[in-house]
Order: sequence, then C-alpha cells, then structure tokens
Amino acid sequence: MTENHSATDMFRLLADDTRVDILRAAAVAQYELEEVGSGPAELAFSEIYDYVEVENTSKLSYHLGELTGTYLQKSDDGYSLTHAGERIVRFILSGNYERPDSFGPKPVDGMCVFCGEEALEAFLSRQFFRIVCSACEQPVAGQPITPAQVKTHDDDALIESVKLQSAEVSKQIRRGMCPECGAHLSSDVIEMRGNPLPDADSFLVTSTCQECLRGYNSPLTYSVVYHPASIAFHWDRGIDVTSRGIWEFNEHLYQGCWTSEQIASDPDEYEVVLRHEDDAIRLFLDSTATVMRTERVRRKNGDPRHS
Ligand SMILES: [Zn+2]
Ligand SMILES: [Zn+2]
Repeated sequence: MTENHSATDMFRLLADDTRVDILRAAAVAQYELEEVGSGPAELAFSEIYDYVEVENTSKLSYHLGELTGTYLQKSDDGYSLTHAGERIVRFILSGNYERPDSFGPKPVDGMCVFCGEEALEAFLSRQFFRIVCSACEQPVAGQPITPAQVKTHDDDALIESVKLQSAEVSKQIRRGMCPECGAHLSSDVIEMRGNPLPDADSFLVTSTCQECLRGYNSPLTYSVVYHPASIAFHWDRGIDVTSRGIWEFNEHLYQGCWTSEQIASDPDEYEVVLRHEDDAIRLFLDSTATVMRTERVRRKNGDPRHS
C-alpha cells in the first residue's frame, strides 16, 4: 500500500452495510462489463446511487470518500476497485468467511506412504482437507480448502478440485511464487533426520513466504513431479500426473521407485529419479530445489542408455 493504513483502520472502514453494498455494486458492474470483454469497470456516482440503498446523495458521498484510497480508486471516469477492494469483495461474495460444510470421511485411492496400506480416507478438519490412513492412523496429506470449494462441488468433484489445486500450488512454489499472496518465494532443501518417510526420499523442500508467512513443504521427489520434463515423461507412458493428487504418488515412494539423493556439496546438488517400469527420468536440483537439468534414462538388458 502506498498510503499506510493500519489493518484495524482497514477493517473498521468496512463495518457498515452501505459500504459493503458499494463494493458489491462495483463487483457486479465489473462482472457485467467483463461479459462483453471490456476493461476495468468504472462506476459513475449516479450508477452507484442506483445500486445501493442509501438515504441521500450526501450520505453516499461520505461513504465513497471513506472507501476511496483503500477499497476504491477514483478517476475522471468514476470509481473502481483497488486490489484490497477486489480481494475483500470476492471473499464476501463467495461466502468464504462462513464455516465449510462437513465432508467425509470418504475412502480415496492411493497408498499410505508410511505403512503401504491402501486405506486412505479424506475428511475436512476446520479449513483443511485432510487424508489420514485408517490402518496406521498417520496423517498422509493436508491442504487448505475454501468454504466455496466445499459448497459448490459434490464429494468426487471436491476431491478432484483438491488434486487440481495441489498441482497448481506445487507449480507456483516451484517457480518461486507464493500461491497465497503472489510474493517471491524461495525454497531450501533440508535433510530430515529421524525421517518417518521411506528411505527412498529423506529430503524435504521447505518454502516460507516472508510476506504473508505461509509455509509449504514437500518431499523432494514430489516437488518435481509437475516439472514439464516429468509431465512429458509420464504423459509418454499414458499417465497424466497433472490430474493426480499428491497422495496418489505415495506408492512410488513407498515402493522405492521414486528416490532422491544428495550428489554434491558446496554447492549442494541433488538428484531425483522417477522410475516407470524400465525407464526413468532424472532431475538434477540445486540447494534451492531449482531443477537445473534433466535426462531420460532407458534401461535395456541392464545397460543404461540415454534417450
Ligand atoms: Zn498407514
Ligand atoms: Zn505469501
């Protein structure tokens, strides 16, 4: 923000039905404009007055003055939403401040990465979609979910939406962008001591956003699954990894088909190998989990040949 409003000032500005209605009016106007492929909606004072229930023009003028600079910006053509206005009005319209409906426990495909049983169950716990193994009771996966996501998808579609979301989030993290706030995100590879995961992968990629403080972590092997080289390698073998949820990769790790190891120090370098039948793709990563190069390996008669 260029003008530094405190967070409490920002929220105090919204403690008024008319102001919330004004933001809704701006979103509706934007929506109607976007349907004909136009630019940002700029609402004239008179248009807002038509939309919003308010006693008189001077009251509306007062509320617009309060919102302008934080939630609205004003130009010669009228009022439009700022970034904060956009985020808050979408949040309000989608009902994402409400409690999500309940969901599950529902059996899902995939193997427990800890015990190898195919006994995974998905359910909601507060704002998280969680997968727990009903055999060993270990949590296997967890991802934030929005109330609108739960409300607008039936059970199977909700699980599909979580898979899609995990692929998108993973892609953004790998490319160094915080999926939550859009800020630059840097990652580190750390070795997990007393690692509960299979020996195949004892490295974790951790990424923490210094702006919004959101943290992410993933086994090193999983962090490269949605790299284009991996997507293409699997696609060539009839597998669309982009449609798979993270927990559906557990069998590869549990069975030791996907592995990671550190191959150099100072600077640190890591190698991830994703094997499929007799073939494999190798991805070489630096200490920030950035893929530096990749190679495909085809094994015939025990003889590794690059393809
Ligand atoms: Zn288990
Ligand atoms: Zn962030």
